[in-house]
Amino acid sequence: METSIHRYLENIDFALDHNRNQYHSTAVLDRLSSLDLPANSRIVALTEKDLFIPILTHVYGEAELGGVSCIVSSSRLKDDLPAIERDKLLGNRIIKEILHELGHTFHLLHCRDKSCLMHYCRSIRDVDRKVMGMCRYCSILLEDQLKRG
Ligand SMILES: [Zn+2]
Ligand SMILES: [Zn+2]
Repeated sequence: METSIHRYLENIDFALDHNRNQYHSTAVLDRLSSLDLPANSRIVALTEKDLFIPILTHVYGEAELGGVSCIVSSSRLKDDLPAIERDKLLGNRIIKEILHELGHTFHLLHCRDKSCLMHYCRSIRDVDRKVMGMCRYCSILLEDQLKRG
């Protein structure tokens, strides 16, 4: 898909929860979804801030199911990086989480296959265990969704 980089939000200070000292990802998604975007487009917001939703201690990202916007944070993806190939591994983690959240915007749900991009990750080890691809089942669901436009 065609992609481009924009700076839609100067910062996400509006989403800061002062008690937790973390940023509420849903507030960012709401702000992004109110933007006037071309039909069938998606926004992936990237931040280094630590994100949360109220029921969890933190999230690597969040997406609107079947919506236009999603967000990924690199904050916790920097945990337990090895000394060698640090940047490469961090890059792979970020890409995996971006593809995971984008999958949600195309109505994909969490998958039980631990190696599938749509598997829900509780820890950084879960992220590293996933391969850079979706299982057969999720791939077919995604193709169906893409055909619908
Ligand atoms: Zn998910
Ligand atoms: Zn899957």
